[in-house]
Amino acid sequence: MENELKGLLIIISGPSGVGKGTVIRSLKKMYPQFEYPISHTTRDPRPGEKDGEVYHFISKEQFEQGIEDGDFLEYARVHETNYYGTLKKPIMDGLKQGKVIVREVDVQGAHSMKEVVPPENLVTIFIKAKNKEELMQRIAHRGELPEEEVKRRMKSAQREMDLADDFDYQVWSLQDQIQKCVDDVNAIVVEEMEKAGIDPENL
Ligand code: 5GP
Repeated sequence: MENELKGLLIIISGPSGVGKGTVIRSLKKMYPQFEYPISHTTRDPRPGEKDGEVYHFISKEQFEQGIEDGDFLEYARVHETNYYGTLKKPIMDGLKQGKVIVREVDVQGAHSMKEVVPPENLVTIFIKAKNKEELMQRIAHRGELPEEEVKRRMKSAQREMDLADDFDYQVWSLQDQIQKCVDDVNAIVVEEMEKAGIDPENL
């Protein structure tokens, strides 16, 4: 069957504290015409986080209902606790319309995306850190997470780093060099849009 999808879904993954949020905020500034879909999660909002910006915060029951109704393109239990998932409709509609869509998901989510989105419409980018100590410092510096949660995230970080080879691209995020990481991700985005015949000026 012919692929009716014309757009590009760019997935950004990587361990907690590696700078994914900064990369996506920079892409948002550079490309306000891209789509940045909101995911659903059962975790509590952190101070300063508003519902509808990056996440819709919902209950476990609501999430499980969504799973049952087939609303999610992918979902995962991240850091062994909460559910996170991307809705099917906004992503598939965007891809049909030829949009460029950027979303952060965990490594399990990226893996699931490969099963449901054709390879010509999907780009997966893994952002990696030099070592666990750097990540630990950055997570602790943010100061917004309880100690238990920091520990859980460090445990996931190792598992996530081990799966980096599954991704189309790997980009370094080195200490105090986040701009270099943003530039490297942007170079990939530019190249992939060109390959897909997408002109960002026409989005
Ligand atoms: P945080 O709680 O720090 O916002 O995110 C925790 C983890 O959940 C991160 O690794 C993030 O990439 C991942 N995540 C965020 N949204 C989604 C999603 O829609 N699906 C999946 N599978 N993971 C997500």
